[in-house]
Amino acid sequence: MQNKVTVLIIEDEKNICDFIATTLKAQGYKTITTGLGREGVSLTASQCPEIILLDLGLPDLDGMEVIRQIRSYSAIPILVISARTQEKEKVTALDLGADDYITKPFGSSELMARIRTALRHGAQMAAGSPVARTYRSGGLHIDFEKRLVTVDGRPVHLTQVEFKIVSFLAVNSGRVMTYDAIISHVWGPYADDNNRILRVNMANIRRKLEQNPAEPRFILTEIGVGYRMAEDESRQESV
Ligand code: CA
Repeated sequence: MQNKVTVLIIEDEKNICDFIATTLKAQGYKTITTGLGREGVSLTASQCPEIILLDLGLPDLDGMEVIRQIRSYSAIPILVISARTQEKEKVTALDLGADDYITKPFGSSELMARIRTALRHGAQMAAGSPVARTYRSGGLHIDFEKRLVTVDGRPVHLTQVEFKIVSFLAVNSGRVMTYDAIISHVWGPYADDNNRILRVNMANIRRKLEQNPAEPRFILTEIGVGYRMAEDESRQESV
């Protein structure tokens, strides 16, 4: 029998915890659950799960502190689950090293998609991060080496900065990238507040890539947090 992927669920709301565990078990995952942050930290060390689903509002220990403690010794993917809609907390969790987040209420397909993306990213990091050569989603195709972007076979001309933004999001497809992470990738860590310039660039990118820039299919806005590029379909198939 195949080794099951172990998921640690740290969530004190019982019905949500049960929903996640049931969904994951049905998909063939092994689950460990706890409603306490401290126990979550010790279970991470003792059970070596492949991924952690972490609620930020826990009774004994703040979720941020859980991330901090786990990140001090482990790169295991952490997916934050939270009812908190405050963008600031999502950004803080991501800055502390969480891989992504999912906002309650969520459905099972969204949950599974986020878990698969985080697991694949974790595996890539562990394997020394093999660099993707291409990206494909819907009609959008990117060849990173040739710096070629096409939509439905039609070449799209992007400026150098636009290409840098798009390729950064595409390499990290399926995961949210914060504004700060994108800005520091494109303009360097000492860039001033380039939020406005990023927004202007994104508007231009969407005009070039999207059929309807107001309802983007390829690059989604995570309000107050950053952007998430649609999952690379060629990588999806390989998992
Ligand atoms: Ca909670």
